[in-house]
Amino acid sequence: MPRIFSGIQPSGELHIGNYLGAVKNWVQIQSLHESFFCIVDLHAITVPYEPAVLRERTQAMALTLFAAGLDPARTSVFVQSAVREHTELQWIFNSVTPLGELERQTQFKEKAARQEQVMAGILNYPVLQAADILLYRADVVPVGEDQVQHLELSRVVARNWNARFGANFFPEPKPLLTPTRRIMGLDGQAKMSKSLGNTIGLMETPEQTWAKLRPAVTDPARVKKTDPGNPDVCNIFQLHKAFSPEATVAEVDRQCRSAGWGCIDCKKVLHANMTAELAPIQARAQEMSAKPEGLRDALGDGAAKARTAAAETMRQVRDAMGFA
Ligand code: SF4
Repeated sequence: MPRIFSGIQPSGELHIGNYLGAVKNWVQIQSLHESFFCIVDLHAITVPYEPAVLRERTQAMALTLFAAGLDPARTSVFVQSAVREHTELQWIFNSVTPLGELERQTQFKEKAARQEQVMAGILNYPVLQAADILLYRADVVPVGEDQVQHLELSRVVARNWNARFGANFFPEPKPLLTPTRRIMGLDGQAKMSKSLGNTIGLMETPEQTWAKLRPAVTDPARVKKTDPGNPDVCNIFQLHKAFSPEATVAEVDRQCRSAGWGCIDCKKVLHANMTAELAPIQARAQEMSAKPEGLRDALGDGAAKARTAAAETMRQVRDAMGFA
């Protein structure tokens, strides 16, 4: 089976943007690959943070990943810092990565512009990402469109290391673009993101979800209920595509263009379908919260499988590089 690796930030509970943009896809493909899914806590420390909050958010993310359907019997879900080889391989990759490649990265420029004091870890962030992926010699990496540039750097690092120490040892990982690629926030302005406050949390109650959906931005040209709308420019329609059956999506398209439904009617249908999908996830999360030892064991098993794969890669890397 081909191997996949993907990582997610320990941002606490998932919101529907990360669920639809990544995790739902992971659940669907977990049986088709030998898969490693990693909560990347080492990536979260390049900005100021509280250790207790990081620990809590890492646990919350793990719980929601399992509740969303990742199955510890079929896949390895683990915390990055539990597998020391990630940082070892990053150091090694620092020695085959030209500085100019890192300085060109769009995310580095954006993050550096936002910070008063820029830590070296921000520049090195993509090298750790390359180490994350290549440590498992992953063939494919499920990514959103905005991460393709980082993956390209991993391919460069693999090429550079292979050219110097061992032809074709590291496969050049290919992107597997997720079907729902980019979920906009409820403001319709930017990608859904916790820091922008435009999200719906995966664990929010139907009442909380409706309170957010009701005022959410739709087609701005549709001022009155009698104005025909254009679903193609409406974020609610994108969410229908993710949560509603195909027949409903076609019905929304028809009713919107003919001004048959108002936006509130349309959102009520979405809300019902969203609630139906989230309810079993929330029930599983509640069950797991009642048994924290189950979560600890599942993460421990995931880390053990990851360590076995990582140790084998590093054994060969150390040998090829002449470490005594
Ligand atoms: S009817 Fe639905 S798809 Fe059309 S603009 Fe309103 S919310 Fe969007």
